[in-house]
Amino acid sequence: MKTFGRLASLLVALGTAAGAWALYHTRDRHPGYALDLRLPNTADARAPHLDVGFGREKITPELARAVWLAGFATGRRATAVHDDLWAVAMVIDDGHHRLGVVALDSIGLFHDDVIAIRRRVEARTRLDYLIVTTTHNHSTPDLMGLWGPRTGFSGVDDQYRAFVVDRAAIAVATGANRLAPARVSLYEIPIETAGLVTDSRDPQVFDSTLRMLHVTSALDGSTRGSLVNWANHPETLWSVNTEITADFPGYLRDGLEHGANESVGDGGGPTVRGLGGIHLYVNGAIGGLMTTSPETTVTDPYSGRAYSAPSHEKARAVGRILGRSILSTVAERPSMPELNPRLSVAAQTIELPVDNTLFRLALAAGVIDRGQPRLNRIRSEVAFITLGSASIATVPGEIYPEIANGGIVRPPGADFPIDAIEIPPLRELMPGRFKFLFGLANDAIGYIIPKSEWDDQSPWLYGASTRHYGEQVSLGPDTGPLVHDAIRRLIQER
Ligand SMILES: [Zn+2]
Repeated sequence: MKTFGRLASLLVALGTAAGAWALYHTRDRHPGYALDLRLPNTADARAPHLDVGFGREKITPELARAVWLAGFATGRRATAVHDDLWAVAMVIDDGHHRLGVVALDSIGLFHDDVIAIRRRVEARTRLDYLIVTTTHNHSTPDLMGLWGPRTGFSGVDDQYRAFVVDRAAIAVATGANRLAPARVSLYEIPIETAGLVTDSRDPQVFDSTLRMLHVTSALDGSTRGSLVNWANHPETLWSVNTEITADFPGYLRDGLEHGANESVGDGGGPTVRGLGGIHLYVNGAIGGLMTTSPETTVTDPYSGRAYSAPSHEKARAVGRILGRSILSTVAERPSMPELNPRLSVAAQTIELPVDNTLFRLALAAGVIDRGQPRLNRIRSEVAFITLGSASIATVPGEIYPEIANGGIVRPPGADFPIDAIEIPPLRELMPGRFKFLFGLANDAIGYIIPKSEWDDQSPWLYGASTRHYGEQVSLGPDTGPLVHDAIRRLIQER
């Protein structure tokens, strides 16, 4: 009896300690934070006014401390820096509203950290709204806690995370300081998916059109920079790589700035002039998932060499294919600058339920380090922006392209016998000619899957013998409907 009593009190003590631990780790980091922003565009008689500025800061980690690379499996310690990681920022001011975008070479940044960046820039930039996106690069330090030395141990180095928050804020402040009269031209460039990107899960729906916002000086027409929006996992180096690299977005940015031969010459290939300026890469609808896997053979458009096995050269070839398409389009079929484009901004805080049991445990244990406004709910955000004939929907994670572009199915083996909920597709709802979709924007909540395609219980989709990957890294089956609905409202309430 006495032993039982001791055991019981020990269990109670352990339970209390675990509860206190969980409460500490899931406490709301930004109590009361709620955005409900509606800034309509302002047509006015004043002289057309558009200022744009760019800034960038290196966010390469020091390898003196252990750096755990994110994506794939745990236990991948960085051994070298192959090329630098960056935070690249653009600030746009139409005389009424000021918008910032900063794109980071990172696996993903949680909403709490996004708010921390906003708080840093608030005082020094007079921004009305800041979008923080990550490229979802799989050769960068863990900032989400899922890829530490081993399962159950976070790979996040708090000191590095604070450094990234700081540098991102500096890049945005630099963009604001460099605001200068500019023109904006918009491009939509179809990109052939064969030999470049594959969709690892049916239905085969891509987000393969590349969109670009090209900023030139209003004074002399020179390139100030650009924002390029396309959709693919920057994981070309694959799971065995231990070298830090910006992957294809880095080569793309370099190629746009410096041209082909200057970026990394193979000799022999044609010299292509770069645009100069500072370029952002923002990922799109990469769920499903969009990847350049070892099964994809990519041919470098300049050297003609083909690459299948993961390598830096293969990542460079991906960047060069995109860069060449952009450079030739800008040179041969330049788009007219937008006439007096006005900005509108709508942004909304949303709460999303965490149904994923592993995520709940990881949150309670502090392995995933993010606060909860309520138990098993996280705070996130969606936004909808317009600028002239461009519109931008921001999505807080990796959305399946069929929610953006259409083509949601009700496959055999799905857990819910329902028709598509996330309709109409976002791009059908969006106004304007150039419809940008920013994925992993202001958060990194994992996969956003159409509910009718959700499959967490056997039988598996299409008679597959094993479970699919997406659901394991998703908050739950209602994330798709909730995110789609929140964005739909922002678009339709305009
Ligand atoms: Zn992913």
